Amino acid sequence: MKYIGAHVSITGGVENAPLNAASIGANTFALFTKNQRQWVAKPLTDENINKFKANCDKYGFDRSLLLPHDSYLINLGHPEEEALTKSRNAFLDEMQRCEQLGLKRLNFHPGSHLKQIDIESCLLRIAESINITLAKTKEVIAVIENTAGQGSNLGNDFEHLRFIIDHIDDQSRVGVCIDTCHTFTAGYDLKTQDGYEKTWADFDRIVGFEYLKGIHLNDSKKELGTRVDRHESIGKGFIGMEFFERFMSDNRFDNIPVILETPDESIWKEEIALLRSLSK
Ligand SMILES: [Zn+2]
Ligand SMILES: [Zn+2]
Repeated sequence: MKYIGAHVSITGGVENAPLNAASIGANTFALFTKNQRQWVAKPLTDENINKFKANCDKYGFDRSLLLPHDSYLINLGHPEEEALTKSRNAFLDEMQRCEQLGLKRLNFHPGSHLKQIDIESCLLRIAESINITLAKTKEVIAVIENTAGQGSNLGNDFEHLRFIIDHIDDQSRVGVCIDTCHTFTAGYDLKTQDGYEKTWADFDRIVGFEYLKGIHLNDSKKELGTRVDRHESIGKGFIGMEFFERFMSDNRFDNIPVILETPDESIWKEEIALLRSLSK
């Protein structure tokens, strides 16, 4: 079965996210567990936590299949010690918030070398950041998102994801989220039939479907290999509708969160209904 949702708002409190997701016909969702533009947030209250759990139950959301996203400020591969420590502390707080809410996956971008250290040193820092955090928490899986490779962001090559996983102490608590827009602009063709098959075969050989813990399902405003991260609504970009038809009939993507991060939230409900109509 396909679990499809979108990255919904937490305005007024995290407990509102399940309501927002239910209103668009979603059966999973993504959320920030705090304001994603601030380093430090107020702790979640018992009321936030209890209401969030009650609303998930009320609207039928399985909390283990939700896909929270961390703050965009965090860089787990930061070349400077002080900034790296700040990121690691913030990431631990994000993991702990997930634990409090009974969430089992935390999605994050791997990190950026900021042109100050080489790729391998940066990937090793990222792996170390994940190891430190996993040692201080329980159950939540660290879900690394692939990127478009914009600027000095790592994670655009499947090999980067593999390298990080190889350096994780507890591999039962690491996974990946594949963003289809990022994949395409990173240079992996998803548009053609041959490209679709080759991209997922490469993914399986290099990373492995057993590590796939989520999908960000987006079309792209930019062409293949441009390394620019600009999401487009389903079927309206350079990836195109045939991809989404193939994807929805592909059972390798069953039973994981599939999250829309498409730019026009006023049509999320129609996009979800459209995608469901495509699954065979
Ligand atoms: Zn992301
Ligand atoms: Zn994404």
